[in-house]
Amino acid sequence: MPSRSQEKQSINTLIHAKWIARVSIDELLVDHSIALNQGIIIEVLPTGSALQKYQANSTYSLDQHLVTPGFINTHGHAAMTLFRGLADDLPLMTWLEEHIWPQETKWLSAEFTRVGSELAIAEMIKSGTTCFSDNYFFSQEVGKAAEKAGIRAQLCPTILNIKTPWAANIDEYLAKAEESYHTFESNPLIYSILGPHSPYVLTDNDLSKVANKANELDCMIQMHIHETAQEISHSLENYYCRPLARLDRVSMLDEKLQAVHMTQLTEHEMDLLAERNVKVIHCPESNLKLASGFCPISSLKTRNITIGLGTDGAASNNDLDMLGEMRSASLLAKASSSNATTLNATETLRMATLDGAKSIGLDKLIGSIEPTKQADLCAIKLDELANLPIYNPISQLIYTANRSQVSHVWVAGKILLKDKELMTIDTNKLKEEVQVWQRKLTL
Ligand SMILES: [Zn+2]
Repeated sequence: MPSRSQEKQSINTLIHAKWIARVSIDELLVDHSIALNQGIIIEVLPTGSALQKYQANSTYSLDQHLVTPGFINTHGHAAMTLFRGLADDLPLMTWLEEHIWPQETKWLSAEFTRVGSELAIAEMIKSGTTCFSDNYFFSQEVGKAAEKAGIRAQLCPTILNIKTPWAANIDEYLAKAEESYHTFESNPLIYSILGPHSPYVLTDNDLSKVANKANELDCMIQMHIHETAQEISHSLENYYCRPLARLDRVSMLDEKLQAVHMTQLTEHEMDLLAERNVKVIHCPESNLKLASGFCPISSLKTRNITIGLGTDGAASNNDLDMLGEMRSASLLAKASSSNATTLNATETLRMATLDGAKSIGLDKLIGSIEPTKQADLCAIKLDELANLPIYNPISQLIYTANRSQVSHVWVAGKILLKDKELMTIDTNKLKEEVQVWQRKLTL
């Protein structure tokens, strides 16, 4: 006769949680467990049944916690975390042209990118992010930093037609982007696409080259588009049309475009985005801080346009905190639409998880807690006085919790944050390396 424990199915991990928000369905599970094996979610079931059915190598009892899919930060510039607080309280073009670009000209290197990316990744894991998108130079360094930390990443190598320490012209940028694409082609956690900076730094010929390369590689494109009113007037003066019309001319407006910001949109443009299934990436705090404008979330949602959420870089936010970003997104959507029902707590969590996954083309793999999906998960301990009473844990998550309450994070079943401790990053070494860069940047 086999013993009871021998009858149980052996798996890698069992997570017992007070609450689970699967996101794919709105129903919140109470006293349920998630069974993980080889990086995959195999079952979500009542804790009593899980204890009878499974024998796990690692078990986590999270009896005051809400477990959600890991947050997906769909837009940022990780290495720019080294510029955090260096040039605040300025409008976008003054900030870029007089501060950020001169600093990048002086300091941009593989080492700058590595250290800045590791700093960003540490902050993101500690705040529940399991997948981030990154538009920057030296993308292979960003990819290596992500791989080392065990976090999932979408790399969008920056493409410009301006000489920088990374590349000299559009053809060299495209070659670097293609190299990055092939380097990570078979990596299960890193996906490399194309990251043309914006329509205003690329000619029509440059944009055509980017569109052709994306078709050749069959990959997505992420680009800053319609970020400010100034971008629109620059385009009207120089190209006699709005930036989206320029992108349409090179056949870039389709389901493979991730359009970041989109604060300036006409009704016709929103209809066109819906018709072409263009993805929108919303970065509310960056838009607020740079006074760029307001992305019309309510109107986009009415048209069923997929919207992901991003923090943008720490130089214009100034943190990489998706919980904070969710709260800002929800409050801003209500205020800008004069409608308190816009972007409720459940919809906001979905924007930071499943809709984020859809916006970057990874929703078959991540974004919700369902069997067969990758085990990218986040646990938040909801036991602070400020969270009580808990009538609705998702409301408390969005409107009262903060990132210091994130206790555990898993990516593909591997634990990256355990009881608030980073498991794959040496925090002390990282702090020392950041201080070296702080001294250099203030020379
Ligand atoms: Zn950006």
